[in-house]
Amino acid sequence: MCNDCFDKQYYGFPSYTEYEEFEAILDFKARSHKIQIIESEDEGVKGLMYYHLYFKYNTCSEKYALSIPDHAWRGYFLTEQNAFDYRKKLRISDKDKRNGCLIFILLLCSLFLYALFANF
Ligand SMILES: [Zn+2]
Repeated sequence: MCNDCFDKQYYGFPSYTEYEEFEAILDFKARSHKIQIIESEDEGVKGLMYYHLYFKYNTCSEKYALSIPDHAWRGYFLTEQNAFDYRKKLRISDKDKRNGCLIFILLLCSLFLYALFANF
């Protein structure tokens, strides 16, 4: 990190206005050649459902990942490592939600079967 870097990282943009303000700064930095968009070397990114852009600071070579907010998704702007950890965390909580849903369905099925057999 250096003076040209963003002074903070975003774990999601609370509003679209906030994202637009961020984007204006990003755009300015890109036009003044402080940052450049790079191709991602991270293979895991390809299967992701969210659109990602990677940036590299020309001054300090720090790499950042940007995920653009879209509807309910709040996006993020993080260093490459933090973005990787954050995505891993999101994937785990997604899996938890799926498992919770499965248990609920199983419970409903067993209740239904119980009701069915209780009538005999
Ligand atoms: Zn920097």
